[in-house]
Amino acid sequence: MPSEFGSRPGVEMKTGLPRATRRCQIGGYMILPGSTLGVLGGGQLGRMFAQAAQSLGYRVHVFEPAPDCPASAVANRTFTADYRNEAELAAFARSCAAVTYEFENVPVEPLWKIEPLTRLLPHSSVLETCQNRLREKMWLKKQGFPHVTFAEVEVNGDLAAAVRRVGLPCVVKTADFGYDGKGQRKVSDEATLQAAAVAFAGTRAVVERYVDFKCELSVIVARTEAGEARCFPVAENIHTKHILDFSIVPARVPAAVAKEAEDLALAIADRLQVVGLLAVELFLSDRGELMVNELAPRPHNSGHWSLDGARTSQFEQHVRAVCGLPLGDATVREPAVMVNILGDAWKPTSAGPTVVPNWSAVLGTADAKLHLYGKGEPRIGRKMGHFTVLARTPDAALEAARALKARL
Ligand code: AMP
Repeated sequence: MPSEFGSRPGVEMKTGLPRATRRCQIGGYMILPGSTLGVLGGGQLGRMFAQAAQSLGYRVHVFEPAPDCPASAVANRTFTADYRNEAELAAFARSCAAVTYEFENVPVEPLWKIEPLTRLLPHSSVLETCQNRLREKMWLKKQGFPHVTFAEVEVNGDLAAAVRRVGLPCVVKTADFGYDGKGQRKVSDEATLQAAAVAFAGTRAVVERYVDFKCELSVIVARTEAGEARCFPVAENIHTKHILDFSIVPARVPAAVAKEAEDLALAIADRLQVVGLLAVELFLSDRGELMVNELAPRPHNSGHWSLDGARTSQFEQHVRAVCGLPLGDATVREPAVMVNILGDAWKPTSAGPTVVPNWSAVLGTADAKLHLYGKGEPRIGRKMGHFTVLARTPDAALEAARALKARL
């Protein structure tokens, strides 16, 4: 056992249990409040994770390359360094009883080195599978989970051949580091194929069949190392320009579809042996078939509604799962709609300063709750915050949410 294990606060050691660690009844470990948790990535997901962890009495260390990130404003300590800075990464890992991540684009190789120093959860093998679209799709295919038909294009490979295999229309996506529709293009004819060939030159890509879906759904599952797993209710997601606009919970789909989506997500989390959260993004086809679009082993934008609309938020559930605590009740307190607030909501004027969104509209509505991430510059497409509206039915919540969004 490496000597560094001696400095892992709150983690069970073979030589005895440190103060904050206990065996829990169902087996596995338990990292108790008072311990320090680490999060790689300092965006809004890291910030809300830190806030939830602190509410349960944990300390939170954040590792993020960019200074002044949303999570650093609330962290007990921030490590500002590149993800490939092994010395800083090791110091960060040693200071934490467990480390998790808030996005998939953390390079996995440096994380292999810190895995002996702390509990990295979900494990690096999960991150490795989910951070590359091609690996993820091949894994889904191999495991027999329903997915969108795809073909691989090697660097400078034959895009046209892959498009022929998949059929038109299709979507070309970069294999690595894509999110929120970044690094993807629809191909529907020869002209768009040529344009994609130029755009994706020198890139490993995936060509996917374009799905004429009825709606998009997502399921967030929490799973502990002992194998206890619990789903949040299925969310129905509406995207605008490839970015999540509205999440409606519970999704307005038949109960059998919701059950199938939840079972699928639970099975995937189990097969991947996720410890922490896993978000499973799905397409529901016109014929009622579910297909997995993407996996994200972390809190997810489509779960933000749970801060106000569920008995346990996704962030608290993530803390519980990572720490081996009993999972919380993930049911809906009241139907909810979450609306993302992008930088687009700030209106630049030629005459004077930018007009800030009308927060009073949300703040003055009893059933709405505003969450802002403390980000500086409101760029187009940048997620600055969100608000959630609760109502007696999902339709009523959506109507109220649309009306509030129009007043921002
Ligand atoms: P992604 O980054 O892959 O999650 O894509 C962002 C959004 O683009 C999805 O939520 C869909 O709205 C849309 N999209 C992605 N892939 C496809 C596809 N194969 N067919 C139709 N729409 C897609």
